[in-house]
Amino acid sequence: MNRATNKFHCDLKHPTKKKMKTVKQTTPYKDHRIIALKVIDWCLEEFGIYADIKLKLGDYNDFKCWGQCYEGETMPAESVSINRYIVEIAKNQTLRDFVATVVHEMVHVKQWETNNWRGEGEAEANKLQYKLTDKLWKENIL
Ligand SMILES: [Zn+2]
Repeated sequence: MNRATNKFHCDLKHPTKKKMKTVKQTTPYKDHRIIALKVIDWCLEEFGIYADIKLKLGDYNDFKCWGQCYEGETMPAESVSINRYIVEIAKNQTLRDFVATVVHEMVHVKQWETNNWRGEGEAEANKLQYKLTDKLWKENIL
């Protein structure tokens, strides 16, 4: 496993009831939040899925990880239930890596939504993270 792969470590079988430090959503996170939300919207469209994504930003030390995602409670809607996912992204990385990390976690959301992945799902997420980041950049999404 190379360093790049390790860097985006996250676990599809992440326990949903994990205790974690509260992350303050204050002004230093504002720009990162706007960018991450644009990436999330773009990914949902690109993957043709609809899910409720709760975004949490912090530092690497808050999460002990650059990015991770796990399933949240399903929101009851009128006729259809919408799955909720919590996506946590460390903001103290370069913009390109930050965007790639959001893409990576969104690939996991797609895997859950389509119920389709191999192994830990990491191979696909690692393969797509920079490919889609470049595509996103070319399309001037950010
Ligand atoms: Zn992953």
